[in-house]
Amino acid sequence: MRYDYRYCPNCATELRHVESEEDGGAKMRLRCPACAFAHWNNPTPVLAAVIECTDRDNRVFLARNAAWAGRMFALVTGFMEAGETPEEGIRREVKEETALEVSALSLIGVWDFQRMNQLIVAYHVQAAGEIRLSPELAEYRLFRPEEVRCWRAGTGYALAQWLRSRGHEPQFIELPVRS
Ligand SMILES: [Zn+2]
Repeated sequence: MRYDYRYCPNCATELRHVESEEDGGAKMRLRCPACAFAHWNNPTPVLAAVIECTDRDNRVFLARNAAWAGRMFALVTGFMEAGETPEEGIRREVKEETALEVSALSLIGVWDFQRMNQLIVAYHVQAAGEIRLSPELAEYRLFRPEEVRCWRAGTGYALAQWLRSRGHEPQFIELPVRS
């Protein structure tokens, strides 16, 4: 479910699309006609984990989200929260969603995911322990790196880059285009 802003969160006046001069020139945005509020609509940071299970033959943990229709397995992701560093956030997400204990993590990179107006911040996470899925995840599978198939979107590119860093040329699956 996605929501659009309709009212100013500062003064509750109805927002309007108003063109205004900014540093980069005139820009149309949702703005409040009564106070200075502008809805910038900045991308939301989403943390993603390529989890390598160090106690399971270094297999890659991918999970299927309970809200998805198909049998697509993907990275563990979650929104970064206020008051935490990205590293703290990805440790929290991995713990919450899988119960795995993280022993090491390193940044893979940062990707745009414009369809969802998100910024993907992807980590390689080494983890071990008993797996207990949160209700958000329907099932998981453990893949050898050479079995993994990537997808052409933010987290899929992160997975591909990690595979390349391990000497595996990533293979992509083509998903139906979504607008
Ligand atoms: Zn206002």
